[in-house]
Amino acid sequence: MRVARFYNPGDLRLEDMPEPSPGPDEVKIRVHNCSTCGTDVKIFNHGHQNLDPPRVIGHEIAGEVVESTVDGWTAGDRVQVIAAVPCGTCPDCVRGRMSVCPNQTSVGYQYEGGFAEYLIVPRQVLAVDGLNRIPDGVSYAEASVAEPLACVLNGQELAGVGAGDDVVVVGAGPIGCLHVRLARARGARRVFLVELNRSRLDMSAEKVHPDVAICSAEVNAVDEIHKLTDGRGVDVVITAAASGAAQEDALQMAARSGRISFFGGLPKDRPTITLDSNLVHYRELTIVGANGSSPAHNKKALALIANGQVPVADLITHRLPLADLLDAINLVSSGAAIKVTIEP
Ligand SMILES: [Zn+2]
Ligand SMILES: [Zn+2]
Repeated sequence: MRVARFYNPGDLRLEDMPEPSPGPDEVKIRVHNCSTCGTDVKIFNHGHQNLDPPRVIGHEIAGEVVESTVDGWTAGDRVQVIAAVPCGTCPDCVRGRMSVCPNQTSVGYQYEGGFAEYLIVPRQVLAVDGLNRIPDGVSYAEASVAEPLACVLNGQELAGVGAGDDVVVVGAGPIGCLHVRLARARGARRVFLVELNRSRLDMSAEKVHPDVAICSAEVNAVDEIHKLTDGRGVDVVITAAASGAAQEDALQMAARSGRISFFGGLPKDRPTITLDSNLVHYRELTIVGANGSSPAHNKKALALIANGQVPVADLITHRLPLADLLDAINLVSSGAAIKVTIEP
């Protein structure tokens, strides 16, 4: 079968691999869609500390069961696969905090990923109920977006996005678009989208219709948010961008008792920011992180797509065959696409 295998930074090879057969307690799927994201770009350029090359990458996976030796799964079942795999048994997992499991492994890192015609679902995924049925009416391409939506859901649960909130989303990539849509679904009053890149902002705003789209290369975004809120600031700021400056600005945009989600991580070599601790202290701000998602978040994300609360079909701007994966990665890194999905 054809796969895309990562060897070294800049060295991702399209090659043939023997088609895998399921062992005992394993499920084999035919991959219909494996979507790309910024993480794939990061892996392509820099590798990843948890990734053991050579490795088939790709972690936003939807497909069809073709062979199974596991009760409950049979050929023809339409399925979505979690990406982050918690151990299910450590103190964090037992307390229900599976997204911060210290023993977490990932599909496409320690296990072969989805940029392949076929995939054996790792037993570790099945052990934590991480293979999900795709609801009727949801396409494979849409289902492949459940994984990033699950991460967005984890972030908004932690930040407590809810009814009546004014929300700022910084970053208009696919994750930012999902944040705008999910915030609406959770009852936000107004959602403002902030982005440096004008063409990316326009492209995304046309899809997700924020109340106001703010290009932070053209205006001071903090001032704009204060104007829009009569100086009060917003209830929640979500930074969906790998930018320390965006995180620093987020504190200035937050209202008293506001919540700030540092959703996007910072580059490994520049992880520090300057934080006015007195803003946090006197204004009773809450700063939260977000690290992937749990199996339960993936199930909820599929339901949000299925019931129409968070549409994702129109965010899929490009569908490419596996042979064009390098083009897909270039598209993602250029910011000229929203969601690029691979159909192996
Ligand atoms: Zn991803
Ligand atoms: Zn664990």
